[in-house]
Amino acid sequence: MSIKNKLRAGIGFLFLMALISSGLADYYLTRLSNASKGILKDNYRTLIYVKNIGQVLDEPGNKTITKAGLQVIENNIAKEEHNVTERGEGILADSLRSNFEHLKLVLNDAKVSALLKSKMKSNMYGILQLNMNAIEHKNNTTSAMADSGIMLVSLIGSLCFLIAFSFVVNFPSYIANPVRELIQGIKEIANKNYGKRLMFTSKDEFGDVASAFNQMAAKLNDYETSNLASILFEKKRIETIINSMHDAIIGLDDKLFIIFANKVACVLMGMSEDKLTGEYAPNVALENDLLRNMLISDSQKMKIYADNRESYFTKETLQVVNDEQVIGKVIILKNITDFEQLNDAKTSFIATISHELKTPLSSIKMSLKLLEDNRVGAINNEQKQLLKNIEDDAQRLLQITGELLDVAQVETGKINLNFGSTHPTNIVNYAVQAIKSLAEQKQVTININCPETLPDVMADLDKSTWVLINLLSNAVKYSPVKSAINLVVKKQGANTIEFSVKDFGQGIDARYLSRIFERYFKVPGADHDKTGTGLGLAIAKDFIEAQGGTIGVESETGDGSRFYFSLIINNT
Ligand code: ADP
Repeated sequence: MSIKNKLRAGIGFLFLMALISSGLADYYLTRLSNASKGILKDNYRTLIYVKNIGQVLDEPGNKTITKAGLQVIENNIAKEEHNVTERGEGILADSLRSNFEHLKLVLNDAKVSALLKSKMKSNMYGILQLNMNAIEHKNNTTSAMADSGIMLVSLIGSLCFLIAFSFVVNFPSYIANPVRELIQGIKEIANKNYGKRLMFTSKDEFGDVASAFNQMAAKLNDYETSNLASILFEKKRIETIINSMHDAIIGLDDKLFIIFANKVACVLMGMSEDKLTGEYAPNVALENDLLRNMLISDSQKMKIYADNRESYFTKETLQVVNDEQVIGKVIILKNITDFEQLNDAKTSFIATISHELKTPLSSIKMSLKLLEDNRVGAINNEQKQLLKNIEDDAQRLLQITGELLDVAQVETGKINLNFGSTHPTNIVNYAVQAIKSLAEQKQVTININCPETLPDVMADLDKSTWVLINLLSNAVKYSPVKSAINLVVKKQGANTIEFSVKDFGQGIDARYLSRIFERYFKVPGADHDKTGTGLGLAIAKDFIEAQGGTIGVESETGDGSRFYFSLIINNT
């Protein structure tokens, strides 16, 4: 039976019971009321009539009954004659009537009327007795009827109470228990326990819900197992790819717990995968330098000694985003050892080549000098010009090989600094002296602002001068003829002195500013004589940074450039 019908039946039954008990109560009350009305009508009134007659008959002091008294008796006897209800009452009423009729005739005879009066009284007593018996009898009957009525109604009431009580006690759990089980089942499904089934045996709506639920769970189970195989395959595939990579890869969740680490990562960190996965990364980092560097360090390039060899890695951190929310990150250490080795090979190749070129170039220059000497033999003007060209080219080649050697030196980390305390004016004077003839050729004036009051700097005089010469020669190179260059040296902050070279040349396009200090970088299309190697600024940067200083540029196309570098004040 459905819950709806069960509810209907239960409430309907209670309603029926309530209807029956109120009907019974009504029935009994009506009967009781009729019985009491019957007593009043049948018997109580008779008692009144008899009492009225008796009052007239017993009137004290009067020997004879008055006319009014006779009339009272007449009326009451007449009423009594109309209210004969008990067995034997009629005979007594008749006798009362005949005795009264007789009395009316012999009113004057005291003796006979006294006799008749007593006869009448005896009749009245008889009537009284009959009616009182009847009252008592009827009273017994009605009270028995009331008792059985009360009994029946309270029986039905108790039955209703019992049924309603058991309904109140049982019905909520009848509804709530399956609902609770259903909620529990839904929670299990939410937790991916698709084996959960509901066992409602009832054939009502809950039974339907249970069978729908079980069908859903079974379908989800099928779906899960069919998907699981392909997901597992995908997982294995991705794991294989990640593990076969030469780069170290570590995945962290948003709370920095390690989700996975590939083989290379495990080898580099010297830890097994089991000890890494599921751990809180900052905790592991306390004991593992590499992981600490990976988590904290900003430096992109790392040199790691693992597996009995040195390897170079660059760090890359990728945010894992899902629905615009960061749910973790992947740290990748890219193995750049091969590139580093190639770079080393290139550097040593450059160093060797430039070193090897230097000797023949110097001997070419030497031979040129000898050729210029008249003692060797006379040369005509044309030949002189040719020799001049050869000398210029040899000089340029020497400069280039020199720069290449410097680069090689810088790249192998072999910058030998010759630190000493020196006044900025020394650096400025040497540099300006070296650049003087170049500037004069182009009629460029160099305005120097370098106060004597500045403190000494702690620097390598040669290398700092080299840098300043480089900046000045670039400035002259990119300045228009007859322009000016401002060389300003000033104190910057408490600890540094800034050297700056401002020219009023073509300036540098903002696109290239960030790359200007890169090796071999030349602003495209700007270098008209094509003699530069694009190494000068790169070497300058290395020289300055090796001394603990900084180097930079500000420029706007058409408005010239300002190159500056800083050196540290000698505070000792
Ligand atoms: P190079 O030896 O070729 O001059 P540098 O490293 O000194 O190499 O300079 C790199 C590039 O920066 C140059 O090719 C040039 O285009 C640009 N550059 C350097 N100094 C200036 C300057 N003062 N004004 C405009 N461009 C400049």
